[in-house]
Order: sequence, then C-alpha cells, then structure tokens
Amino acid sequence: MTERLVIAIDGPSASGKGTLAKRLAAHFGLPHLDTGLLYRAVGWAAFRTGRAPEELAAQLQASELDNPELRGDEAGQWGSKVAANVEVRANLLKLQKEFASKATGAVLDGRDIGTVICPDAPVKLFVTASPESRAERRYQELRGRGVDTIKPRVLAEMAERDRRDSERAAAPLRAAPDAWLLDTSEMDADAAFAAALAFIERKGFRSAGP
Ligand code: C5P
Repeated sequence: MTERLVIAIDGPSASGKGTLAKRLAAHFGLPHLDTGLLYRAVGWAAFRTGRAPEELAAQLQASELDNPELRGDEAGQWGSKVAANVEVRANLLKLQKEFASKATGAVLDGRDIGTVICPDAPVKLFVTASPESRAERRYQELRGRGVDTIKPRVLAEMAERDRRDSERAAAPLRAAPDAWLLDTSEMDADAAFAAALAFIERKGFRSAGP
C-alpha cells in the first residue's frame, strides 16, 4: 500500500511556494490549502471591524477566504501581525490539521506546516530565494496588478515581514530539520516544479493520473 501523500511546503513570501503548491496539488490531484490566507483573513477582519483576532480565528469560515482583498500586501502585513498571537494560531490549528488528515492526502503551504501542522508529512519542502529576487518577483506581480509602487519599498516591506515572521516566539518561520531545501533564486516556476517533482518521485510517489 502506498503511503498517503501529504506535501508540507514552507518558506517566506514570494519564494515561489504558493505557485509550487498549486502545481503539485494539480499534478497529484490533491486538495490544496494556502494557510497564509487564514491569517490574512483574520488580520483583515480584525483591522476592519476592531473585533478580537482570537475570536475571529475561532469562527473563521472557508467562504471568507475568497475575498480578493486578502491577496494584497496590506492584508499580508495584517496577517503577519495577528500570526504572532498564540491564541490565533491555536484557534486555526484544528481547521488545518483536519485539512491535512483528508483520506486523499493534501498539499498545505505556509510558515509552520512542516514543523507544527504536519510534522509527520512524508514530503516537506522549504522554499527560499534571495531577498532581491523575491522582491523583484513581488514588484513585477504588483505592477502586473496595476499597483503603483517602487522596488525599495517592496524590499523594505518584505524585510519587515520576514523579520516579524522569523523572530516571533510562536511557530516562527523555520525549516523543519527533515525538510528539503529548494532555492528558487535562479529558477522560474517550471524549473522549481520540475525539481520538486523529481524529489517527490524519488521518494516513491507517482501521480495516479494518465
Ligand atoms: O504566505 P502569506 O504571505 O499569505 O502569509 C501571510 C502571513 O501569515 C505571513 O506573513 C505569516 O506571518 C502568516 N502565516 C503564518 N503561518 C502560516 C502561514 C502564514 O504565520 N502557516
């Protein structure tokens, strides 16, 4: 019997982990959860309504994750602020653990998937890239969406979020000791996907599809 495939992907913002997670999920026919969206949704709602983030986290509904405003940098900053709150993290744990325990297997991406949410996942990837290449990607993405910004600002905001995510006491951004490191600084999305797929296939997992 083949082991249930759970792919845990962590890394900083604009490292390419989100795109990689979507492509791996499509390839293996697995459900995918972008866990950053959970924190973004809680942060966005907390700052908009003034309600306690812990309470919002406990009541979060999947339908709240479709809000396009959650994709913006502002929601990312708010998300990273509430993500340092231990109670918020605890209240989002069950939803993530349940998603990861689906009989089909699953792909989850975030900051603490390999360390806290799925410590037993058979596949753990830690995706990184240099701050400059991540900022360049983010800048191009924002420009593509019509957002008027400048590169030094994108780089500074990214550095601030990296620092907050890595230095917080609660589940800081950290590679699990058994995670495979993938540096995408010199890779496009196709190359990152090919490298990750080769790694997963070496572990004996194959797509069930045609
Ligand atoms: O990945 P994304 O940029 O959407 O995440 C937004 C914020 O949510 C991150 O800066 C991080 O602080 C937080 N986060 C987290 N744990 C996760 C996923 C995201 O703390 N598993």
